[in-house]
Amino acid sequence: MASGGLAVLAVSPVIRSRPIGPSQREYANGAALVETPLDPPALLDVLQTIETQFGRKRQGQRWRARTLDLDIVLWSGGCWSDARLAIPHREFRKRTFVLGPANRIARHWRDPVTGLNLAHLEYRLKRRLDHPRRAP
Ligand code: AMP
Repeated sequence: MASGGLAVLAVSPVIRSRPIGPSQREYANGAALVETPLDPPALLDVLQTIETQFGRKRQGQRWRARTLDLDIVLWSGGCWSDARLAIPHREFRKRTFVLGPANRIARHWRDPVTGLNLAHLEYRLKRRLDHPRRAP
């Protein structure tokens, strides 16, 4: 399947999660493995066009209910950083709703910052959430 210069190689199952912040809706989370000749900024442009086509408006509160949020989590080129874009995504190691679906399609993919693969990152996050450290 190819669309907007993207070939979708794998798609995870959809996993529901409760919202962060004041939004009342549940979210449906998924991950896709995508191949593209586009560089990361051009890929972000495509993703934001898709978000707009799904009716997302970018103004307003950060956490307001949104129709679609597409992020770039990891990139085969490693790290990218500019004024608009950081890859790996800055928050992905703390989010079970990202690691859960991503792990279903790319568990051996390595985070270039920590050197850990997605399976290990999800295991580590779950362990932290189950056993939060107590202050001494
Ligand atoms: P949000 O919709 O709240 O996730 O924030 C979207 C904004 O985050 C975009 O306008 C991007 O400029 C910025 N951004 C930074 N890193 C990323 C990334 N890895 N993937 C998608 N958006 C990113």
